[in-house]
Amino acid sequence: MTKDGQRHGEVAPDLAPHSGPELGILILAPTGSDAHHTAEFLKRAGLGSLICRDIADLCQKIELGCGAVLLAEEAIATPSVFMLLDCFSRQPSWSDIPIVLITSGGENNQARLRRLKVFGPAGNVMLIERPFRPDTLISAVEVALRSRRRQYEVRDLLVERTKTAQHLEMLVAERTAALKDTIAQLEGFSYSITHDMRGPLRAIASYTQVLRKEFSTPLPEEAQEYLRRIVDSATRLDRLIQDVLQYSRLGRDEMPTESMDVEKLLRTLVAEYPALCDHRQDIRIDSPIPLVRANPAALTQCLSNLLSNALKFVPAGREPTVHVSYETTEHHVRVVVQDNGIGIDPKYHEQIFGVFQRLHHVDKYEGTGIGLAIVKRAVERMHGKVGVESTGHGGSRFWIELPKA
Ligand code: ADP
Repeated sequence: MTKDGQRHGEVAPDLAPHSGPELGILILAPTGSDAHHTAEFLKRAGLGSLICRDIADLCQKIELGCGAVLLAEEAIATPSVFMLLDCFSRQPSWSDIPIVLITSGGENNQARLRRLKVFGPAGNVMLIERPFRPDTLISAVEVALRSRRRQYEVRDLLVERTKTAQHLEMLVAERTAALKDTIAQLEGFSYSITHDMRGPLRAIASYTQVLRKEFSTPLPEEAQEYLRRIVDSATRLDRLIQDVLQYSRLGRDEMPTESMDVEKLLRTLVAEYPALCDHRQDIRIDSPIPLVRANPAALTQCLSNLLSNALKFVPAGREPTVHVSYETTEHHVRVVVQDNGIGIDPKYHEQIFGVFQRLHHVDKYEGTGIGLAIVKRAVERMHGKVGVESTGHGGSRFWIELPKA
């Protein structure tokens, strides 16, 4: 018995301390004494080894880690060799276990090649022919261990890299959460400021109106014109604030979706919205438009913005005509709003969906430049897409694409 209580003939002396268990050499030779002699050679050279009982035992030990495998060719009769090949195939990608194969002497080259072929997929095989000198065996094993040490270095690098990647991912997740939190706080802050601005603004507009109505006679014409401009500006600023609030609400609020009848909604809008009902005869709506999944408030906003724009951006003197049609794909319905307006140069097609992006002065076409940004944000939050087609004249074709109900 050794000091560890292991029986001689089964397990060789402890792995040498400098090699560590991962660099131990696993020996498989069918006759115990052969294995034992080999283990003794190795031990004298300071190389630790373990003797395996059979291929199953060898495979089990390989799974735990080893520096090289020393095999006597008699030990690898088929079919047990396939068990070994299968075990090699389960090794991780960095692993290419060196095999030192001890063959009987006097063979011709063909027989050796056949033996090597058995290990074709396992690959890393060195042949030593009997009878061999102990030095030959030791140097072959040392070469094998050197290559195995490199493999373990690669493994350690991979582990290190994975740890670094995981650490980075964690850092990114933490910082993203902190940033989201800051953005939410900032949005909340700007939302409440914007919201609170409406009160004083309404006071300015109301008192100015009172001045104009109650005290108009003693005021000179020029002063009355200034008062009118104050009211106009306050009204415009109020509209702008409302649009900004609407835009930021779309980013903050929950947006539950439900099955919606776009056509019915369009007809209600055209019948009831003051900006649209005057043009009810100019708006043609195709029927029946398939149901979509959308949020009622958001979809109402999107369609009214697109229809108002279609009626608004028309050259002076031209009667607007708007046609709402649809196209379907496997999972989506595309609602298309086609107008006969001034068109949009393709180079502005992306820009106009940004906040405050306008292509004309407010004196020519009034607006705040937020309408299309609202459409884009709302549609994207409803898992859809928006877009426009126009050559720059002859009208525009705005579309929103939403999931089918
Ligand atoms: P607003 O209508 O308040 O100006 P929008 O965000 O709705 O803001 O539109 C941004 C810009 O896109 C408009 O100022 C206009 O230049 C252009 N635009 C939008 N709709 C149309 C349209 N149907 N035809 C031509 N130009 C349009």
